[in-house]
Amino acid sequence: MNPNNNDLLRKKIIGLGESSNRKNYYPELMGTIKKLEKINARNSALLEAIPDLLILRDSEGNFFEYYGELIMLNEIGPDPIKQMVFEAIFDSNWSEQISKAVEEVLTVSEARGFELEIAKKWFEMRIVPTGKDEVLMIVRDITESKDFFEKLEYMATRDYLTGLYNRAYFEERLLEHCENGEKDLGLILFDIDGLKLINDAFGHLTGDHMIKEIADVIKGHFRDRGIIGRLGGDDFGVILRHVDEKILDRLISDLDLKFKHFYALDKKIKMSVSIGYAINSESLNKTHLLFAKADQMMYRKKLLKSGSVRNEIVTTMMSALEARDYITEGHAERLEFIALFIGQKLELPQHQLGSIRLLAKFHDFGKVGIPDYILMKPGPLTDEEMTIMKTHCEIGQRIASASTELAHIANLILMHHEHWNGGGYPLGIAGEDIPIECRILSLADAYDAMTNDRPYRRAMKRALVLEEISKFKGRQFDPALTELFLKHITEIELLKADEDGMVIEQ
Ligand code: GH3
Ligand code: MG
Repeated sequence: MNPNNNDLLRKKIIGLGESSNRKNYYPELMGTIKKLEKINARNSALLEAIPDLLILRDSEGNFFEYYGELIMLNEIGPDPIKQMVFEAIFDSNWSEQISKAVEEVLTVSEARGFELEIAKKWFEMRIVPTGKDEVLMIVRDITESKDFFEKLEYMATRDYLTGLYNRAYFEERLLEHCENGEKDLGLILFDIDGLKLINDAFGHLTGDHMIKEIADVIKGHFRDRGIIGRLGGDDFGVILRHVDEKILDRLISDLDLKFKHFYALDKKIKMSVSIGYAINSESLNKTHLLFAKADQMMYRKKLLKSGSVRNEIVTTMMSALEARDYITEGHAERLEFIALFIGQKLELPQHQLGSIRLLAKFHDFGKVGIPDYILMKPGPLTDEEMTIMKTHCEIGQRIASASTELAHIANLILMHHEHWNGGGYPLGIAGEDIPIECRILSLADAYDAMTNDRPYRRAMKRALVLEEISKFKGRQFDPALTELFLKHITEIELLKADEDGMVIEQ
């Protein structure tokens, strides 16, 4: 307001001039007016600064926007959000609720608040009584904070990996149902079989992927019938209401069937899950008792199949490797033949010959965890690729340890790339510290590798191969074994060719 207008306004309010006989009151009135003007200016500044939309509504339902100064509703500016809110207020969806709230506020002389959703945005409307027949409606855009709180709530109750409920939320809900004395409440618990094996062979990211895939199967099976949670690393749980033993049994055997046909990782790996359940009853009306019973059933089932599941995973891993690593074609049989020949010449006991046989087949098993681009690379590996490639010894050892059938050769798998002079990997051990089975395999493996094509070079001539093996006697290979091998190589080749029905070129 400009100063001249202020003067005029004051004179109009006071209605008095210097000549008035009531001029003694003039300074006092002027002081009060100035105070009011200050308050008005502060209020205007405050209202300008507040991002909320302020609307006055009288008891007859007339609206004004209050924004710095009172203006009529039809003079609203071009602000699209304000426009949207006004339109919504007149929209029959909201106008009825608003009118009711205004009526209530005027009757009880107390503020009321509620939330409105308008065109995918959220607003909070507070209605405050400002007089006997007038209310102030304060509308605030809360879309961002609502989204934020929703995210926070999601994070507090969900598991980040699978999107299922987390353990805290799951237990809270179970407790709630139990405390309400709900009958016919079912708790199902799941634990993935052999997940460690998958992590060891393919890395944690693959393990995570597997957890997500299994979570999806469980989600798809129960849909929105119950509360589904991820309760730990590879544990899941479902709370189902209004079930009995028969319903649960059927649901679980249907799910079991789905898992029987469930192959993860592009059908390379067969996964399975152990399942247990419990139903709320007189004696099982506490959450920990329900958990304990379901857990017990699940572990009993797991124990019954644990060895066979691991062996099955190992077998499917082996076929996965055979399918993608052409080197294994015929390689394992040739190795077995040569290594057994040497073992027999050394008169090793049966159990060691048995280990040699398995080692020949499974020594490169850890390659299941090596990416294709390294395994199939048609050229020499870079240092970094070589470092990754070398991990196949440890991966192989870990997988073998998990299999009842292979556990006893796990350490041989670990050491099959050690060199006589200590220059091998992964341990760098030397001489007779390297098990004899590994020293034998090392010779047979080198011979077979050189006499057959590899992605990065063609097969070498026989004479060159033998020369190379002699050259590395005492360095890569056990010297005594090298001599034995070279002494008998012709015999080995003839025997092998005879077995294969082939004529061999010398
Ligand atoms: P079992 O057949 O007896 O169930 O053996 P398991 O290998 O599945 O191992 P267990 O259930 O005893 O332990 C769970 C394993 O799951 C431990 C850990 O290696 C793995 N794990 C736990 N949390 C995660 C995770 O978030 N991601 C991945 N990739 N692995 C996890
Ligand atoms: Mg498990």
